[in-house]
Order: sequence, then C-alpha cells, then structure tokens
Amino acid sequence: MNLVLFGPPGAGKGTQAKKLCAERGFVQLSTGEMLRAAIAGGSELGERVHGIMASGALVSDGIVNELIDGAMDSNPRASGFIFDGFPRTIPQAEALDALLGNRGQAVDLVLSLEVDNEALLARIAERFAREGRPDDNPEAFRVRLVKYQEQTAPLLPFYEAQGKVVRVNGMAPVEMVTEGISAALRQTVKMRAQNAK
Ligand code: AMP
Repeated sequence: MNLVLFGPPGAGKGTQAKKLCAERGFVQLSTGEMLRAAIAGGSELGERVHGIMASGALVSDGIVNELIDGAMDSNPRASGFIFDGFPRTIPQAEALDALLGNRGQAVDLVLSLEVDNEALLARIAERFAREGRPDDNPEAFRVRLVKYQEQTAPLLPFYEAQGKVVRVNGMAPVEMVTEGISAALRQTVKMRAQNAK
C-alpha cells in the first residue's frame, strides 16, 4: 500500500503519518525530515540545501527523488509507504511513478488534507513559537504557501485524473482526521482485493 499524504504546509501530514505508522506498520518517508536530518548532521547535502529551505523555496527534484529512492531501498520489507511532503512537483510525481513501477508497485491512494489558509497561518505561528523551525517564520512561510499553490497544487488534478484522490477535512479534530484516512484506506484495500480477483 503506497499512500501519498497531500496538503499544504501545516495541514497535519506529519502528525497523521506518524499515527498511521504506529498503528499499521507503514514506513513514513518525509523528504522534509530527511533534509532536516542532513542539515543537523552537517553533511554536504545539508550545506547545499540549508539556505534554500530556510527561505521557504523547494530544493531540486533530483535531490528529493534520490532521497526517496534510497529510503525505499533501505526499507525492503515495509508493509507500505506513506509519502509525506513528496511529491511536490509534477516531475517528482512522475519520478515516483517510475521508482514504484521499477519495484512492481504504484501509488494506491492520495489523501488530500484540506485546511484553509487562515488556519494554516495560525498553526504555523504556533509551531514557530514552540519549535522555532527557521522556515516557519512568517516570511518563509508565505513563500512556502506560494510555492505550494504554484508547484504542488497542480498535483491534485494529476492524481484526480487517475481516480486516486480522497479529500479529508483537515480542520476536524486529529482523531476524526485519522478516522477519515482509515476509512479511505479500508476502501482502497477492498478495491485492490476486488481488482486482484
Ligand atoms: P516539509 O517538512 O515537508 O514542510 O519540508 C520543509 C522544506 O524542505 C520545504 O519547504 C522544502 O524547502 C524542502 N522540501 C521537503 N520536501 C521537498 C520536496 N518534495 N521537494 C522540494 N523541496 C522539499
């Protein structure tokens, strides 16, 4: 089962991914977390992406595609992957199709967490106060929202054309969001079993 958690920054993708991993043994692949780990570890990759990330811009497709490829190789026995913050551009979505295709797999479900801009701004202001993530500062966050609208939002019609999108109200309480995701997963598992017959 390969699930793409889709939504703007602050929609709750990371929170939901962690719950699904704890409950179902999926492996979360968050390119944002991988990049932050590279920065924290002082690697050459970390040095290259540090400034780009702090500004709120996207790092290059090549960098994140390679991270995802390596992370899938490192988890050969995963019961499923949750892609969190990836793909963020159409070329990344095409690369993901190819990476999964090489392994005899595909994207099974795209969960779109829908949260309005006002709520996003409030959530991120709160996270900035709590965690101090540099790209949560108001200026960088505005850039992230613009990048999302320009480069990431077009992925929704891309996946809708494949009939893979389920929309979940990301403004609901965390548990209700999780329940909405679980219902969509159950439906996908059922459909996959029917198609396999
Ligand atoms: P996130 O934790 O997913 O919000 O990502 C934090 C930052 O990491 C983003 O604002 C980008 O600078 C970078 N990043 C994470 N994932 C990607 C991606 N798939 N493509 C490009 N940049 C990414």
